[in-house]
Amino acid sequence: MKLKCPYCGFEGDSSEFNYLYETTLYVVNSKIEREERERSILVVCPKCRQGFLLEDPYRKFHGE
Ligand SMILES: [Zn+2]
Repeated sequence: MKLKCPYCGFEGDSSEFNYLYETTLYVVNSKIEREERERSILVVCPKCRQGFLLEDPYRKFHGE
């Protein structure tokens, strides 16, 4: 899968980019529970280090 950075225009294979997964934890009744909503994957450009979101990261992984 090819990705293109919207900031500097760097184009490369998806394996060349870095990824950050947003994690949010809630404390409920003194227990930490994971948030249930879908999380976005932040793609980090290896050239300019800017992060950007894929429009629909889940569709690609599910092959729909
Ligand atoms: Zn870039």
